[in-house]
Amino acid sequence: MSDGQRAIDKLRDVIYQCNRCAHCFDLSWLGDYNKCPAYRFGVFESYTGRGRFFLARALVDGKTDYTAEIAQRVFACTECRACAEHCFKYISTTDVYAAMKEDLAARDLLPPRLAAGLADAGGLGEYHNVYQGSQEDRLAWLPDRSRVDKKAEVVFFVGCTSAYARQNMALDLYALLEQAGIDFTIMSDEWCCGHPYLAGGQMGKARASIQHTLDAVEKLGAKQLVFNCPGCQRAFRDDWTELTGQAAPFEAVHVIELLAERLKQGEIAMKRFRPKTMITYHDPCVLGRWMGIYDAPRELIKAIPGANLVEMPRNRRDAYCCGAGGMIRYDFEAMANLAGADRIAEAEATGAEMILSACPACVMQLQQSRQRAKSRLKVMDITQLLASQLQPLRAKR
Ligand code: SF4
Ligand code: SF4
Repeated sequence: MSDGQRAIDKLRDVIYQCNRCAHCFDLSWLGDYNKCPAYRFGVFESYTGRGRFFLARALVDGKTDYTAEIAQRVFACTECRACAEHCFKYISTTDVYAAMKEDLAARDLLPPRLAAGLADAGGLGEYHNVYQGSQEDRLAWLPDRSRVDKKAEVVFFVGCTSAYARQNMALDLYALLEQAGIDFTIMSDEWCCGHPYLAGGQMGKARASIQHTLDAVEKLGAKQLVFNCPGCQRAFRDDWTELTGQAAPFEAVHVIELLAERLKQGEIAMKRFRPKTMITYHDPCVLGRWMGIYDAPRELIKAIPGANLVEMPRNRRDAYCCGAGGMIRYDFEAMANLAGADRIAEAEATGAEMILSACPACVMQLQQSRQRAKSRLKVMDITQLLASQLQPLRAKR
């Protein structure tokens, strides 16, 4: 909104739909059923969906203007979408938060660490990754560069977390794609997907970041991008369309979607997992509530003989956020830690020995939470498990 208009004013009708019922944060009539990590951390209602809708209404009614206090409430949000999932009026609550973020960013009211992380100098704008690693090191994990920048129909989009912070996950996905017989390439000049800019309300920069990848993919002639990170996937599958009104000129899929489809077609099988292990699965908010992918990971886990899936009480659309989303770790570390501790405790209570997820950010967050809690749980990404359990193909495509 460079013309002085506010994004929030376009959502006046949406904001007026809120009937103040509190379903977005209070389902206490269902028992101990907390689902908003921001409310759990902040305690005050202004941290919840309904509280933010009060603030949004005051803004569009001209009763208040954006302040640092409002920024504190809006950015203390993991963008888990649990509030939208349970909204009595089916309001897409996160659209309203996104508009507030956009307005706050335009007024230089970002929380300080997030502002520094996204900055053009010394931040995401300079490094094109959130870990401030050098671009030359982006593919340092790759032992063999023969696939880099070659023409192929499939691009493996590595993502910042796998490239810089969890390189074993990049190697596992690389191995999985090779085992599945997929002809793929990797971009030498991959940039951040733009997802962090969206969390910081910087829509123009998100568009530019996504456009960089679109141009690179066009040069390679690829038709499909494969991800292990739901946040990256969503940037190309959904966010680009929402930002521009146009669909990306390729398919954006999570690797578990590809593998679940091959499993269904009888093209892959799984080796027995020893010893027999009880496994629980944490639904990443972006993969689940944002993109509706719940079955594929469960089908893959259940296909591994010896891996017994046990669900946490809050699963699928009701899954509790682990605290990795919304870039909250920058300025709300205590909130991220609290959500992570809650999720590890919930996983432990199932009696499971292992917790899997399908997102590098969730896995990193759960691993750190497990360490803090001194939990006996093993934390892994599903791609790590699959890389060791996938059988040679019966048929290759
Ligand atoms: S998106 Fe999640 S953290 Fe944010 S207000 Fe909704 S339930 Fe709370
Ligand atoms: S559940 Fe929906 S309608 Fe009810 S208070 Fe929350 S945002 Fe408003």
